[in-house]
Amino acid sequence: MRIVLLGPPGAGKGTQAERIASRSSIPHISTGAMMRASVASGTELGKRAGKYLDAGQLVPDEVMIEVVRERLGRADCAGGFLLDGFPRTLDQAQALDRLVQELGCPLSHVLELRVPVETLKERLILRGRKSGRSDDSAEVIGERMEVYERQTRPVSDFYREQGTLIEVDGSGGIDEIEARLREVLEGA
Ligand code: AMP
Repeated sequence: MRIVLLGPPGAGKGTQAERIASRSSIPHISTGAMMRASVASGTELGKRAGKYLDAGQLVPDEVMIEVVRERLGRADCAGGFLLDGFPRTLDQAQALDRLVQELGCPLSHVLELRVPVETLKERLILRGRKSGRSDDSAEVIGERMEVYERQTRPVSDFYREQGTLIEVDGSGGIDEIEARLREVLEGA
């Protein structure tokens, strides 16, 4: 399975991605986690990306596309992968289309978790208290939601127009949401 999991910040992508990837024995590729790790270890990439993460803004497309190209080319992705947090712009979505074509393996599922905006905000504030993530503060949450609306919403439209987008209700408990996602993945 080659899965893309879409959804706004706070939709539960990370939690669900981890569960699905581990059940399906495919790598969970979280571009956010990759970026945080690069920042923490002070690599060249981390130095370039740090300011965007702190501000809740997107790392430039050419950087992210290269990171994902390299990651998907690794041996552990040969049997499938789950992308969490990528693509986040139309350019990234188009680049991913080209990339999977080059690799000879089209995406099998594009899933989008749909969650009411009030629930998202509540979840993010709660997570901010627990995670200590620097971008889970109230102001940065606001910025990340705006960035999502402006830059990532067109990605859903892109897949919807392609006819590949599957929308899944992302409200309720973690197990409940996982069951909905599994139904889609196992049913197709
Ligand atoms: P996330 O954990 O997915 O919310 O990502 C945290 C941060 O990493 C984002 O706010 C961006 O600064 C950066 N990031 C992660 N994925 C991408 C992407 N596909 N494009 C640009 N920036 C990204």
